[in-house]
Amino acid sequence: MTRARASAAAFADRAATPVRYLRGVGPQVAERLARLGIHSVADLLFHLPLRYEDRTRVTPIGALRIGVPAAVEGEVELTETLMRHRRMLLTRISDGSGALTLRFFHFNLSQAAALARGTRLRCYGAARPGAVTLEMIHPEYRLLKDAAPLAEDAALTPIYPATEGIAQLKLRALVAQAVQMLDEEVGLLPELLPPELLDHTTMASLNAAVRYVHRPPPDAPMAALVDGSHPAQQRLAFEELLAHHLSLRQLRQNADQSRAYTIAAKPELVEKFRAALPFQLTGAQQRVMAEIFRDLEKSHPMMRLLQGDVGCGKTVVAAFAALNCIGAGYQAALMAPTELLAEQHYRNFREWFAPLGMAPVWLAGRLQAAERRAVLEKLRSGAAAMAVGTHALFQGDVAFAKLALVIIDEQHRFGVHQRLALREKGAAAAVYPHQLIMTATPIPRTLAMTAYADLDVSAINELPPGRTPVQTVAIADTRRDEVVARVRFACAQGRQVYWVCSLIEESELLQCQAAEDTAVALAAALPELPVGLIHGRMRAPQKDRAMARFKAGDIHLLVATTVIEVGVDVPNASLMIIENAERLGLAQLHQLRGRVGRGAVESSCVMLYHAPLSAAARARLEVMRATNDGFEIARRDLGLRGPGELLGTRQAGELRLRIADLTRDVSLVPRVQQAASLLLQRYPERVVPIVRRWLGDNGRYGQV
Ligand code: ADP
Ligand code: MG
Repeated sequence: MTRARASAAAFADRAATPVRYLRGVGPQVAERLARLGIHSVADLLFHLPLRYEDRTRVTPIGALRIGVPAAVEGEVELTETLMRHRRMLLTRISDGSGALTLRFFHFNLSQAAALARGTRLRCYGAARPGAVTLEMIHPEYRLLKDAAPLAEDAALTPIYPATEGIAQLKLRALVAQAVQMLDEEVGLLPELLPPELLDHTTMASLNAAVRYVHRPPPDAPMAALVDGSHPAQQRLAFEELLAHHLSLRQLRQNADQSRAYTIAAKPELVEKFRAALPFQLTGAQQRVMAEIFRDLEKSHPMMRLLQGDVGCGKTVVAAFAALNCIGAGYQAALMAPTELLAEQHYRNFREWFAPLGMAPVWLAGRLQAAERRAVLEKLRSGAAAMAVGTHALFQGDVAFAKLALVIIDEQHRFGVHQRLALREKGAAAAVYPHQLIMTATPIPRTLAMTAYADLDVSAINELPPGRTPVQTVAIADTRRDEVVARVRFACAQGRQVYWVCSLIEESELLQCQAAEDTAVALAAALPELPVGLIHGRMRAPQKDRAMARFKAGDIHLLVATTVIEVGVDVPNASLMIIENAERLGLAQLHQLRGRVGRGAVESSCVMLYHAPLSAAARARLEVMRATNDGFEIARRDLGLRGPGELLGTRQAGELRLRIADLTRDVSLVPRVQQAASLLLQRYPERVVPIVRRWLGDNGRYGQV
């Protein structure tokens, strides 16, 4: 152990000491802690309780109320092991005011022996009615050796988010150990907020805040602690938001100081393309294009988020940006999150650019080796001016001759780190590509300022004219026959239909299986209709063919998995059936529904659900029925769920907050921005430590 202690002392940043140097942490515990994101002493200190239990007051047994958790003390009257349906241990205690039965199903013999008659113990739990006395099932308990009160009950008892294999008691003991280190070692967690900020506000010091949240005094305001609005929690949330904000600001500063190709607009080319389009650009599209063109003319890289609801026409705006770059003799690349969407973009760009004498190349995962080599060569030599594809575009061996613009579609599907990885691509000779990032996720302003603090935002707030809102209904899956009849009717009118099979399981295989089965069943039920199938496990040419046939109108009913969620564009499709709609989130439902309502005919969406509906599911379906407005849906979503999912936390590397909650703590954002400016100006040396404290080394965007 001495050796371990000695090397633990070697950590200059003591709070970064790995948890394995703590008492009671072996390799297995360390591995389980890692699953909770806890690697160091600091991680333990920032692992905040979910809630607290008040065990500081002992309730007389006679005053227990059913269902209300309480601490009681008493003397064991009787302990017996019973065999009813299963083995159980019953212990009756009393304190003079009444008797209480403790019932255990999991126990061992030594435990039973220790609960001998006359033993005094304190236990905590919620009472429920029992046969003879009130009872508690599996309460936490401790034997009282002497009459002295237990020290740790001088504070509220924290209940931590735990994981399988780590008992609450263990976690509590480990955090307590970390807090004890904090007590004993001055400077373990140095204060990094500037004194100006701490002196002129009521903000607590970091150390005081950490101690408070792990050991709140008995009279602490419980309600505030539970909803996270207590000043101690807010102090920590503030610093965490500050860290994220600083890292993004730093990223932006780096970009502003790096060089990019200056792209002058090409009016004749732009005019030629515009004239060939079968529609007029909306005012919003033109405004946003002007913003992008201005950015491209600058000698440092554009970093712009293009936000606009599904169907507003972001792709064509991106095409204009690409056109200017290509016209100026540079390269552009467009990356989409799914192969299906990338293929669609590829087809669009090919058609759009063909009359202008330009041809994009295609780069995705499933390319033949020889084909791939040829494409890579064209990109390296500059023979290909435009590349469209998936994240395969940004693999290590892909090199561009003079990449001037990177377009990322449906950004919410990518993580921050991917966004950064491709910034490095094309950074040949220290020239960085301009970046245009497109998303249909309507991000509230305050959120955008925090999560995308490195980006400028352009918004298309207008749909092309002639679109009619999609009529949306929710129907129980017991009425499937009616829905099938509806499909038949729509197709008889010359319309086309999507039937979306969704499963909540992340298993792609199951989803595809469900889609295959459904396609067979529907083809049998609707023998007169050409039915197609598309899912993620089909080979690219197969998918391509199915999609092309649907687009051409040869397939009337397309059964699909959620692979069609993003971007797919077939204006004649006017009916969408979504199975298991109750299991999908609002953002996903909105994206899916966005596949219809793209033409002039009135479209509808049928959300099939399996009863009974949970309250949350009912609320989601209700929102979908009530509105088509992506902003409104996102707002309601935020209220129902919080912003994690909205920003795509499912992707590793995305803004991962441990303590702060962007919905709850939105009011902190303006002060966070001020604090960031203050630090950057007067305390630049503190920026790296703050970012590192909260983002560690794993966030590449923590590199400053
Ligand atoms: P999104 O913003 O969701 O990516 P798309 O770029 O896929 O939307 O555009 C949706 C559809 O609207 C496409 O068929 C596109 O050609 C068409 N479109 C784009 N701009 C206009 C416009 N100004 N008028 C009419 N149709 C348009
Ligand atoms: Mg799109």
